[in-house]
Amino acid sequence: MNSEIENRIQEFACRRCNACCRQSGYVYLREGEAERLAGFLGQDVYEFTQDFCEVADRRSLVLKKHSDEACVFLTPQGCSVHPVKPAQCAEFPYRWRTPRSFDYCEGLKSLAEKVLRGQK
Ligand code: SF4
Ligand code: SF4
Repeated sequence: MNSEIENRIQEFACRRCNACCRQSGYVYLREGEAERLAGFLGQDVYEFTQDFCEVADRRSLVLKKHSDEACVFLTPQGCSVHPVKPAQCAEFPYRWRTPRSFDYCEGLKSLAEKVLRGQK
Protein backbone atom coordinates (compact mmCIF):
# COMPACT_ATOMS: atom_id res chain seq x y z
CA MET A 1 0.00 0.00 0.00
CA ASN A 2 2.69 2.48 0.98
CA SER A 3 4.71 1.89 -2.19
CA GLU A 4 1.54 2.25 -4.26
CA ILE A 5 0.84 5.60 -2.56
CA GLU A 6 4.44 6.59 -3.27
CA ASN A 7 4.05 5.67 -6.94
CA ARG A 8 0.87 7.67 -7.27
CA ILE A 9 1.63 10.64 -5.01
CA GLN A 10 1.54 13.02 -8.00
CA GLU A 11 -2.21 12.32 -8.14
CA PHE A 12 -2.58 13.85 -4.67
CA ALA A 13 -5.05 16.74 -4.60
CA CYS A 14 -5.01 19.09 -1.62
CA ARG A 15 -8.46 19.85 -0.19
CA ARG A 16 -7.28 23.05 1.51
CA CYS A 17 -8.58 21.86 4.85
CA ASN A 18 -5.44 23.13 6.66
CA ALA A 19 -5.54 20.16 9.02
CA CYS A 20 -1.81 19.70 8.43
CA CYS A 21 -1.21 23.12 10.01
CA ARG A 22 -3.01 22.08 13.19
CA GLN A 23 -1.13 18.94 14.12
CA SER A 24 1.05 18.18 17.10
CA GLY A 25 4.75 18.36 16.43
CA TYR A 26 6.84 21.19 15.06
CA VAL A 27 7.65 22.91 11.81
CA TYR A 28 11.45 22.95 11.86
CA LEU A 29 13.20 25.77 10.04
CA ARG A 30 16.08 24.85 7.79
CA GLU A 31 19.08 27.00 7.00
CA GLY A 32 18.08 30.32 5.48
CA GLU A 33 14.36 29.93 6.14
CA ALA A 34 14.19 32.30 9.10
CA GLU A 35 15.86 34.98 6.95
CA ARG A 36 13.45 34.30 4.06
CA LEU A 37 10.37 34.47 6.27
CA ALA A 38 11.65 37.57 8.06
CA GLY A 39 12.21 39.31 4.71
CA PHE A 40 8.71 38.42 3.58
CA LEU A 41 7.28 39.93 6.77
CA GLY A 42 9.49 43.02 6.58
CA GLN A 43 11.33 42.16 9.77
CA ASP A 44 14.93 41.54 10.65
CA VAL A 45 15.75 38.00 11.60
CA TYR A 46 16.10 38.86 15.30
CA GLU A 47 12.58 40.34 15.45
CA PHE A 48 11.22 37.42 13.48
CA THR A 49 12.66 34.77 15.78
CA GLN A 50 11.47 36.68 18.85
CA ASP A 51 7.95 36.95 17.50
CA PHE A 52 7.41 33.68 15.70
CA CYS A 53 9.96 31.06 16.75
CA GLU A 54 10.95 28.95 19.66
CA VAL A 55 13.72 26.45 20.26
CA ALA A 56 12.90 22.76 20.29
CA ASP A 57 15.17 19.91 21.37
CA ARG A 58 17.48 22.62 22.81
CA ARG A 59 18.94 23.47 19.39
CA SER A 60 16.37 23.58 16.60
CA LEU A 61 14.48 26.66 15.53
CA VAL A 62 10.78 25.89 15.08
CA LEU A 63 7.65 27.94 14.43
CA LYS A 64 5.55 28.88 17.44
CA LYS A 65 2.14 27.30 17.86
CA HIS A 66 -1.06 28.32 19.54
CA SER A 67 -2.34 26.34 22.51
CA ASP A 68 -4.61 24.33 20.19
CA GLU A 69 -1.53 23.26 18.16
CA ALA A 70 -2.35 25.55 15.21
CA CYS A 71 0.70 27.09 13.57
CA VAL A 72 1.30 30.75 14.38
CA PHE A 73 0.91 31.55 10.66
CA LEU A 74 -2.39 29.79 10.14
CA THR A 75 -5.28 32.17 9.47
CA PRO A 76 -8.91 31.48 8.52
CA GLN A 77 -7.80 32.08 4.92
CA GLY A 78 -4.94 29.59 5.18
CA CYS A 79 -1.20 30.04 5.51
CA SER A 80 -0.27 33.71 5.77
CA VAL A 81 3.29 33.04 4.59
CA HIS A 82 2.36 30.68 1.78
CA PRO A 83 4.77 32.08 -0.87
CA VAL A 84 7.75 31.49 1.44
CA LYS A 85 6.50 28.72 3.69
CA PRO A 86 9.12 26.37 5.14
CA ALA A 87 10.23 23.40 3.08
CA GLN A 88 8.80 21.02 5.68
CA CYS A 89 5.34 22.38 4.84
CA ALA A 90 5.88 22.53 1.09
CA GLU A 91 7.12 18.92 0.99
CA PHE A 92 4.03 17.47 2.69
CA PRO A 93 2.72 15.00 1.64
CA TYR A 94 4.83 14.55 -1.50
CA ARG A 95 8.19 13.95 0.14
CA TRP A 96 7.11 12.93 3.61
CA ARG A 97 4.00 11.67 5.41
CA THR A 98 3.38 9.46 8.41
CA PRO A 99 0.79 6.75 8.99
CA ARG A 100 -1.16 9.30 11.06
CA SER A 101 -1.30 11.72 8.13
CA PHE A 102 -3.91 9.44 6.57
CA ASP A 103 -6.21 10.14 9.54
CA TYR A 104 -6.33 13.91 9.12
CA CYS A 105 -5.35 14.74 5.54
CA GLU A 106 -8.43 14.58 3.33
CA GLY A 107 -6.34 14.50 0.16
CA LEU A 108 -4.32 11.51 1.35
CA LYS A 109 -7.49 9.75 2.48
CA SER A 110 -8.97 10.11 -1.01
CA LEU A 111 -5.80 8.90 -2.67
CA ALA A 112 -5.62 5.89 -0.34
CA GLU A 113 -9.27 5.06 -1.09
CA LYS A 114 -8.60 5.31 -4.82
CA VAL A 115 -5.60 3.00 -4.51
CA LEU A 116 -7.58 0.51 -2.41
CA ARG A 117 -10.38 0.45 -4.98
CA GLY A 118 -7.76 -0.13 -7.66
CA GLN A 119 -8.88 2.92 -9.60
CA LYS A 120 -6.73 4.24 -12.41
S1 SF4 B 1 3.89 27.83 7.92
FE1 SF4 B 1 1.97 27.86 6.82
S2 SF4 B 1 1.87 25.86 5.79
FE2 SF4 B 1 3.40 25.70 7.42
S3 SF4 B 1 2.29 24.90 9.20
FE3 SF4 B 1 2.32 27.15 9.33
S4 SF4 B 1 0.38 27.80 8.41
FE4 SF4 B 1 0.78 25.69 7.76
S1 SF4 C 1 -4.24 18.23 5.48
FE1 SF4 C 1 -3.89 17.49 3.38
S2 SF4 C 1 -5.68 18.15 2.22
FE2 SF4 C 1 -5.66 19.33 4.12
S3 SF4 C 1 -4.53 21.22 3.58
FE3 SF4 C 1 -3.04 19.77 4.41
S4 SF4 C 1 -2.19 18.76 2.59
FE4 SF4 C 1 -4.12 19.73 1.95
